[in-house]
Amino acid sequence: MTHAPSPSNALTAARSLFSEEHEQFRQGARRFIENELSPHHAEWEKAGVVPRDVWRQAGEIGLLCPNIPEEYGGAGGDWLYNVVVIEELSRAGISGPGFMVHSEMVGPYILAWGSDELKRRWLPKMVRGEAIGSLAITEPSAGSDATNIRTRAVLEDEHYVVSGQKVYISNGQLSDIVVTACKTDPSAGARGVSLLAIETNADGFSRGRNLDKIGNKAQDTSELFFDGVRVPVANRLGEENRGFAMMMTKLAQERLAQAVRGATGAEAALDWTVEYTSSRKAFGGTIADFQNTRFVVAGLSAEVTAARVFTDWCIARFLEGKLTTIDAAKAKLLITDLHCKVVDQCLQFFGGYGYMTEYPIARAFIDARVTRIAGGAAEVMRQIISNELFSSRR
Ligand SMILES: Cc1cc2nc3c(=O)[nH]c(=O)nc-3n(C[C@H](O)[C@H](O)[C@H](O)COP(=O)(O)OP(=O)(O)OC[C@H]3O[C@@H](n4cnc5c(N)ncnc54)[C@H](O)[C@@H]3O)c2cc1C
Repeated sequence: MTHAPSPSNALTAARSLFSEEHEQFRQGARRFIENELSPHHAEWEKAGVVPRDVWRQAGEIGLLCPNIPEEYGGAGGDWLYNVVVIEELSRAGISGPGFMVHSEMVGPYILAWGSDELKRRWLPKMVRGEAIGSLAITEPSAGSDATNIRTRAVLEDEHYVVSGQKVYISNGQLSDIVVTACKTDPSAGARGVSLLAIETNADGFSRGRNLDKIGNKAQDTSELFFDGVRVPVANRLGEENRGFAMMMTKLAQERLAQAVRGATGAEAALDWTVEYTSSRKAFGGTIADFQNTRFVVAGLSAEVTAARVFTDWCIARFLEGKLTTIDAAKAKLLITDLHCKVVDQCLQFFGGYGYMTEYPIARAFIDARVTRIAGGAAEVMRQIISNELFSSRR
């Protein structure tokens, strides 16, 4: 059984964010996913990576960085087009292509803080899928505490010389440009971090293993090594030593994107469960005839509806430029937790089939787990929220 798009949106709360144009774009994205991604996803999971051609195809129909302005080669759409792509991939259980990292994490940094020359050189290629982006913050000895990174960038003759190591980098095997967090002032903690756009054909850059993960098997995730890589100062994003503040701004977008993916993934799991339990026979009826099945699904559906409404509220705030770090943290915390709960409880109704990775629910269960870790662990979200709540009591 392949990852099938959910049969209906019956469990989804009525939504008012999207226009007719967004819905047309959604139909195109859905067709592309059905025809070009779903049939091949299992083989990419075995390979541990998605072919580059898929990126070019996705670029051709506007699925990459859809909100990049026209002057940099994009369609100049609003962020709702990005939302559509995230939702359609999630609804179909397509976890392999790292489009979200590319469009929600790398593109936005370059657009917001890259020089005009850097934007003109990289963004059009990223939109077309000819160049792939990754974001490298995490290191073997520093993840949640990003102020602790050790990758060093030393200024020498209009270049930074970068030495260090990153780990768990999504798109790491494929990427052509890596937005990399480096220490430019090791004595200054968070105020000593800068972001450099590092081109992967530079001398001294190398990729380590494609890491073997429990889920998201088709998405390449790598170690990256920097051994005296010379990076032109013009490739610095924004001001020197302002990288941490920039990361805090853009992490809100990444976390909202994760919430959008989680809300949609949870809806899809409920749809699959209603469909499956309505036809699977046991004890003279169907699994859906058991009150237990109906009540568990009903309870989850109520929670997922609330999650959807909150996510849409956050999207609307984001579009107005008013989404706070706290609200993004709340959305990520709440919805990634709920997503994991939904796929776990729904899997139960599939019995043994639910444990077989050929069933979408099994893969959804495995794939969802990372969302409570990556992009900031759940505990870090709780810390961000509680810091705000208790700030006046210190
Ligand atoms: C599949 C995958 C893809 C990833 N992609 C990327 C990527 O593209 N780019 C990138 O830079 N990074 C990426 N990451 C890294 C990810 O963001 C980190 O794994 C995450 O931030 C946690 O850091 P860590 O693994 O070092 O865990 P640690 O920081 O060591 O934390 C371990 C655990 O300690 C607990 N903890 C940590 N801090 C606190 C706290 N303040 N209070 C209470 N408990 C706490 C949490 O339970 C946490 O899970 C990816 C990770 C995975 C697994």
